Amino acid sequence: MITMAPGSTVASPEIVVSHPGAERVRSGHVWVYRSDIVDSGSAGPGALVSVIEEAARTQRFGSGRAPLGHAASSDKNVRATRTRPLGTALYSSSSEIALRMISRQPVENLEHLVRERIRAAVAYREQFVRATNAYRVIFSEGDFLPGLIVDPDNEDEHVGPDALVQAGERCSPMAAQGAAGRVRAPVPTQTSVASERLTTEFRMNDVQFFYDALSGQKTGAFLDQRENYAAAAQYARGEALDVFCYQGGFALHLGRTCERVTGVDSSRPALEAAEQNANLNGREIEWIQANAFDLLRDYSDSGQKYDSIILDPPAFAKSKRELQTALRGYKELNLRALKMLRSGGILVTCSCSYHVSVFDFVETVAAAARDSHRIIRILENRAAAKDHPSVLGIPETSYLKCLILLVS
Ligand code: SAH
Repeated sequence: MITMAPGSTVASPEIVVSHPGAERVRSGHVWVYRSDIVDSGSAGPGALVSVIEEAARTQRFGSGRAPLGHAASSDKNVRATRTRPLGTALYSSSSEIALRMISRQPVENLEHLVRERIRAAVAYREQFVRATNAYRVIFSEGDFLPGLIVDPDNEDEHVGPDALVQAGERCSPMAAQGAAGRVRAPVPTQTSVASERLTTEFRMNDVQFFYDALSGQKTGAFLDQRENYAAAAQYARGEALDVFCYQGGFALHLGRTCERVTGVDSSRPALEAAEQNANLNGREIEWIQANAFDLLRDYSDSGQKYDSIILDPPAFAKSKRELQTALRGYKELNLRALKMLRSGGILVTCSCSYHVSVFDFVETVAAAARDSHRIIRILENRAAAKDHPSVLGIPETSYLKCLILLVS
């Protein structure tokens, strides 16, 4: 049963939002920030609410007549007639994202709507996901279920719509207090999970990954990179270096097409998991624990060469303020990597910083190419896998950039 806020189906409370907030919603976004709430009325935490745009206010000068259809007022603090409905949202009384729009229409039955959208999310993935049992099953705004993220937990089990609907219902997804509800589905209950089943394996593009539910490590790979792993493996060859390899996502895929693969990461536990993954797939991969910046500087200074290099660092820009520092970081990494690539080499370079736009990123790599006197052709300009759908008008749904480059 989806837990709904009291009174959420009958006579939803009304929330009034500012013009800029309304404009944002009309342009396709589904978030309204607290600063754009003009009046939250009687809405309680997690309530399903009707959203309306504040009415135009009359100017003090001129004729004093309001635009047609709007109430006139000579007091700028008086709220005028509420004329423009924007749809239905879930309200959070604590999050900075005060409203998450769930429909442009009135919603009679939230439970039904959530069920339909979960089923649609499952059907969408059935079209696109292959040779994999680890993928994002529900991606929040990308699946029109704002606040709900579902990743598979026990990959041995079939992730069917019924399991998901149950999981979705259990987490009372969107009615939560604004914090993104995150469930892992199908959610095994403590009693049904025998201790020997806490370690298991999963499969991505037919590469096996070890998964240890007890270790606190989420999964052995980044789900959003799944299609990029496969794409990178199509081009990479020869001697390959996977920088920021974590538990070996790219390195393991490259093991299929490259003669020699080396993975670099600063985290020892990540590399230990990576080694287990390599054994699971019968691959010989060399793992180096190092600071990637130091290692790339040493290697490029000493003339070390590779045929293929992957760069997949953590998000350097966690906020807009960090953009310039982040771009310097990306430039440095890409410059070093370009210096180390043999002619005809492949560079797979990624950025998962939402605040770094595709344009900024491409420009930064281009600057690194100029400085290293390399000529680059773009083989593929990629993003997150299709199980992380990106919606036009909601820029936050596209954050991952992955360029596959041919370096002359
Ligand atoms: N490519 C990986 C994901 C990388 S996540 C995959 O597909 O699975 C980023 C990784 O960078 C983490 O594993 C983190 O341990 C590592 N990291 C962060 N800072 C680092 C640094 N300065 N040098 C090397 N590794 C670093």
